[in-house]
Amino acid sequence: MTPATYAVLNLEALQHNLACVRQAAPNAKVMAVIKANAYGHGLLRVAAKLPNVDAFAVARVDEAVRLRQAGFTQRIAVLEGFTCNEELQALLRYDIEAVIHCPEQLAILNTYSAEQTLSVWLKHDSGMNRLGFKTATVLAAYQQLMACKAVKKPLQLMTHLANADNRQDATTDKQIHLFNQTIAQFSGERSIANSAGILGWTEALSDWVRPGIMLYGVSPFAEQTAAQLGLKPVMSLHSQLIAVKDITIGESIGYSGRWVCEKTTRYGVVAIGYGDGYPRYAKTGTPVLVNGQRVPLIGRVSMDMITVDLGSQPHAKPGDPVILWGNGLAVEEIAAWSDTIPYTLLCGITQRVQIVEQAEVKG
Ligand SMILES: *Cc1c(COP(=O)(O)O)cnc(C)c1O
Repeated sequence: MTPATYAVLNLEALQHNLACVRQAAPNAKVMAVIKANAYGHGLLRVAAKLPNVDAFAVARVDEAVRLRQAGFTQRIAVLEGFTCNEELQALLRYDIEAVIHCPEQLAILNTYSAEQTLSVWLKHDSGMNRLGFKTATVLAAYQQLMACKAVKKPLQLMTHLANADNRQDATTDKQIHLFNQTIAQFSGERSIANSAGILGWTEALSDWVRPGIMLYGVSPFAEQTAAQLGLKPVMSLHSQLIAVKDITIGESIGYSGRWVCEKTTRYGVVAIGYGDGYPRYAKTGTPVLVNGQRVPLIGRVSMDMITVDLGSQPHAKPGDPVILWGNGLAVEEIAAWSDTIPYTLLCGITQRVQIVEQAEVKG
C-alpha cells in the first residue's frame, strides 16, 4: 500500500550535484555538510550515496557518532565542536574532528591527558559573529592549540560567510580578506565557502569547501534557480487528493474562514499539512501540482490537510497525484510563498512522511 503522503528521494542527484561542486571548485577538497539529518533527507542514507567526498560535516557530536556506529570511515568534522569533557571523549574514541571556536573548549582540551590526539579546525570569526575567535584573540587560540599535546598538528583553519547568498554584498569580500590576512602566518589547510560561497565567490574556494544546500539540489541564491545553476532536486514531496467538492460565492473554507469564495468553483482537499512539514505560513496562491498542473492553494494550511482551487481541473478526482515541491515545482518557490528559506522546508519534513527512494533511471 502506498501511503497518501510521501517524499521521493532521487539519490542519484546527489552525485550530479556533487559534480557541480567539483566543477565550481576543482582544486578544493569537499566536506559534504549532512547536518540536521542531511537537511531532512536522512543522515545515513545520504552519507552512503556520497562515498567519494573528502569528509563529512555535521553540527553535533551525536550526529557524528551515529555515522561512525553505522560504519562510515571517512573523515568527519563537527561544526560546533564539543561542549563538555564527555563529548571530547566521544570524539577521540570515534576519531572525529572538532571545530574549536571558544576559550571553554581550549580549557577542556588543556585538562586532557592521554596519548590520543584530536584533529581540530580552528574557527576564526571574520564577521558572522556567531561562532569563532575574533581577530584579536585567534592568534592566542592558535598558539594554545599548537602547544596542546592533545591536538594533532597541523591544525586546520575555518571561517563562515554571513552574506554569501547576496552577490552584491561587500561583506563577503571583507570577510574573505580578513580571514586570509589574519591567518596568513598560520600553517594548516583553510576552509571558507558554503554553497553560496562556492557558486558565487571564487576567492572563497580555498583548500576545502563545505557544500550543504546545493548537494540537495537547491539554489542558495534568491535570484537564481537550481535549474539555472545546473542542480537537480533530490527531494520531491508527494500527496494526493482525498476529496473534491464545490463551493459557492460567500462560503468559506477551513479554520477561521480566512478564504471566502468569490466565484463558484470546484476545490480539492490534499492529504498534507503542517504535521507533515508543509509550511503553515504558505499563502493563498502558493502553487501546488495536481496531475502535473499548477493550481493555487486556498485557505489556511491545517495539520493534516490543505485545500486547492480546482477551477482549472474540473475532472480531478480523489486519488489524483499531487506534488508539493520537487520535480517541476522548486522548493525555493514554495519557500518564497511562505516567507521562509528552502532549508527550513527540507529540514522540516516530519516522521509521518514516508521516504521512498527513487529507483535509478538509466539512460
Ligand atoms: C550549514 C553550514 C554549511 C553549509 O551551508 P549551505 O548554505 O547549506 O551550503 C557550511 N559551513 C558551516 C559552518 C555550516 O554551519
